[in-house]
Amino acid sequence: MVAIKLQTRPSVGDVVTLPGGKRIRIRSVGVPYIQPPPAVCDDPLCPWHGHLKIKLKLMEVTVEKVKMQKAAVAVREWVHYIPKYKRYERRRRRIHVRVPECIEVKPGDKVIIAETRPLAKTIAWVVIGKSKDVMPWRAAREALEGTHTPAPFNPSFEIPGPS
Ligand SMILES: [Zn+2]
Repeated sequence: MVAIKLQTRPSVGDVVTLPGGKRIRIRSVGVPYIQPPPAVCDDPLCPWHGHLKIKLKLMEVTVEKVKMQKAAVAVREWVHYIPKYKRYERRRRRIHVRVPECIEVKPGDKVIIAETRPLAKTIAWVVIGKSKDVMPWRAAREALEGTHTPAPFNPSFEIPGPS
């Protein structure tokens, strides 16, 4: 289990060779506006470099504790409206999330988590990136529109054009 920091941020489809000779391809997690982390790992339960699939249920949470191995405690906060008093109350829930090895988090970080299958008794969410990895709106829209063009990771494969 290794995590290698890269000089530049890779894009989806890139293939990175680890020091042991293992080749890791950056997968698409299905969220075009979140950029892959600037590191690569060979964690099988990583949404970017392993085979962990995510469900498109996303939340932004704040990391609270990182004492667990490959997992963290995060806090989700929201406001709830009480009609009788016409006021809001603050609510918060702690949630256990899996942290893949390529994403380094510390308490106070804002991260984007996605729902996944149950990985442990209390863990069914995985960190897919930090909030600062979210693209600006315009870049995100271009990424969304670019999803219709074939990914250039395999140049030998050609899609027959209309001509
Ligand atoms: Zn990874």
